[in-house]
Amino acid sequence: MAQLRFQALGELMNRQPKEVVFPSTKATDYYGELVFNKDSMAKYLSGDAYKAVKVAMDKGESIDRKIADNVASGMKAWAMEHGATHYTHWFQPLTDGTAEKHDGFIDYGDNDTMIEAFSGKLLAQQEPDASSFPNGGIRQTFEARGYTAWDVSSPAFIMGTTLCIPTVFISYTGEALDYKTPFLKALAAVDKAAVGVAQYFDKEVKKVHTNLGWEQEYFLIDQALYQARPDLMITGRALMGHSSSKDQQLDDHYFGSIPERVTKFMIELEIESHKHGIPVKTRHNEVAPNQFELAPIYAEANLANDHNQLVMDLMKRIARRHQFEVLLHEKPFAGINGSGKHNNWSLQTDTGVVLLAPGKNPKGNLQFLTFVVNAIAAVYKNQDLLRATILTASNSHRLGANEAPPAIISVFTGSQIADTLDNLAERITDQKMSPDEKTALKLGIGRIPEILLDNTDRNRTSPFAFTGNRFEFRAVGSTTNCASPLTALSAAMAVQLTEFKADVDALIEKGVKKDEAIFQMIKKTILESNPIRFNGDGYSDDWKVEAAKRGLTNITSVPESLSKYLEPAAKKSLISTGIMSERELEARVEVEMEKFTKKIQIESRVLGDLAINHIVPTAVAYQTQLIQNVQGMRDIFSEEEFDALAGPRKELIKTISAHISSIKAKVAEMTESRKKCNAIEGETEKAYAYDKEVRHFLDDIRYHIDKLELIVDNELWPLPKFRELLFHR
Ligand code: ADP
Ligand code: MG
Repeated sequence: MAQLRFQALGELMNRQPKEVVFPSTKATDYYGELVFNKDSMAKYLSGDAYKAVKVAMDKGESIDRKIADNVASGMKAWAMEHGATHYTHWFQPLTDGTAEKHDGFIDYGDNDTMIEAFSGKLLAQQEPDASSFPNGGIRQTFEARGYTAWDVSSPAFIMGTTLCIPTVFISYTGEALDYKTPFLKALAAVDKAAVGVAQYFDKEVKKVHTNLGWEQEYFLIDQALYQARPDLMITGRALMGHSSSKDQQLDDHYFGSIPERVTKFMIELEIESHKHGIPVKTRHNEVAPNQFELAPIYAEANLANDHNQLVMDLMKRIARRHQFEVLLHEKPFAGINGSGKHNNWSLQTDTGVVLLAPGKNPKGNLQFLTFVVNAIAAVYKNQDLLRATILTASNSHRLGANEAPPAIISVFTGSQIADTLDNLAERITDQKMSPDEKTALKLGIGRIPEILLDNTDRNRTSPFAFTGNRFEFRAVGSTTNCASPLTALSAAMAVQLTEFKADVDALIEKGVKKDEAIFQMIKKTILESNPIRFNGDGYSDDWKVEAAKRGLTNITSVPESLSKYLEPAAKKSLISTGIMSERELEARVEVEMEKFTKKIQIESRVLGDLAINHIVPTAVAYQTQLIQNVQGMRDIFSEEEFDALAGPRKELIKTISAHISSIKAKVAEMTESRKKCNAIEGETEKAYAYDKEVRHFLDDIRYHIDKLELIVDNELWPLPKFRELLFHR
């Protein structure tokens, strides 16, 4: 085994940056060339078909069969011209990543001739018989039909030689089996609710869409080293490994100069992303060694999320061309920073106004404040739901564990907004305000400084932060499908805005003036959601105490957090809005519970295997060497000399023996625990049991392995060490 490690290290000596060929020096020359976007549609579709698709894209309406045939035929012509031979419905089942099943265009034509065929029917809907995807009991295998249906709002694209059509994935009975279906419903719900409120300020507003700008963090590891680490290959994280003497303590990687090999990878990734119409813009080194970030310009949320799913796939493929492996896991290496995926979120009207950005006049600012306070309240009332969408087995290594942000959901507003809100709550009265009072209030609101945009405090410790024209949901993990947190956030916001509007309307009904009614409801909303606002250090222990006093929840256990999906607050957001049915929600929780169990189960098996078959034999081999050495010393030295010299070596032999025994005993115990847990019926109970009975062994066993790593001869150690994984070039 140690051979593999040294072979890998040897390969590193000969690594050369791979040259990248630019299609053109201008990205705009090839931007979107692999996307069936409006430009290509205009070229390849009939006028009627083009119009129908545009309406469907903008309004979310469906397309009739005849038109679909026309679209399919144009799409096929375009795709074949770009080298496509196959097509697939591309969807997002409840696993990590996307799914696809490729079919060739090739088919029998009339008179047994072969033709290239693609119909509107195949474009619009398919039955992939994807019976093995998680479904939480919604589909029995004897009724395994699942359908994929075209999501017209996200354009088709080409990957390699396959035309990919973004689709939703639903059961025969119409229940969602994916992340996209509820997401689209949630976006529609928040659209409707937000339009209602935005119309208080501008009657022209007919649609509000959601923006998402994601920031994807990741690690890059050399492929040879990766392949010498079965734990990385199978679980995505290092289940063992003593920390390197130097890692991130000097902060010399963050924003540092990007190594050439990595730059070449990034350039190729950017070119491919741009060809796929993904507006990636920012690249930089992150805090941990070999950790990086990629971010696009924000876009409409459903599209942006498809882009993120696609980018994660592109990253893996392109990394391999550069002899790298991408690690998207939230915490591949204990002791150094993990990877998140900030979700920059805002709402925007069809009149071009970003509702979470300060306005240009008092009215615009009042609208801005209205949306900000409602967003804060939505987060306050849905802290548990929001956490449930992001606290996974892998992200639990970040949230509330070895790395912030904490598992307490709070909102950072910055001091200016905080002062403004406090001031408003104080000055708005329930009594009828005099015209002077009102003018003064509006003037105050009008003064919300424009400089806010450049001047937002950058509180890196907050899980949910206002950053000038948007909120950033920072606690999201690097592997998470953004649809999951954004479905919850949109649902929460939809309910909150609907209630806000109902309350304002009720006051107006009673004869209160519109602006005064809005003021009063703003005040009430500010006061009721005060506990969630926190501008201090989210990583501190004081905050845990303070948050508990405020009644905020602090949940670090994944099963416990997932259980919150089924509490009244979450149901109100997801079910009352029609985004999910009771059955869909229950099924989803079951799927997530099972996913948690399986991840821990796999990690536990891999660790058990490595511990017993790699580490223990290595430790024994070294121990044997030491024993032989001590025996040899006895032959050479006098008894007196021997006692003095061999003492420390004998101690070392004892220490190694103790670690070996502990590892063996604990692996056996862990296996027994797994057996017991596996016998438990019910995914929820099983997940709780795995969390309590199995999970801790991962740390317990690792402790002894990492101690051995420090003692055992480097020549014998089988797995690449952290210093090698993290500091290769
Ligand atoms: P950082 O938070 O690291 O300073 P950037 O300023 O580069 O990052 O922005 C991060 C992301 O936020 C980018 O994708 C950017 O396009 C996006 N973003 C900027 N403004 C908005 C907005 N109003 N709504 C949603 N996303 C936004
Ligand atoms: Mg950011």
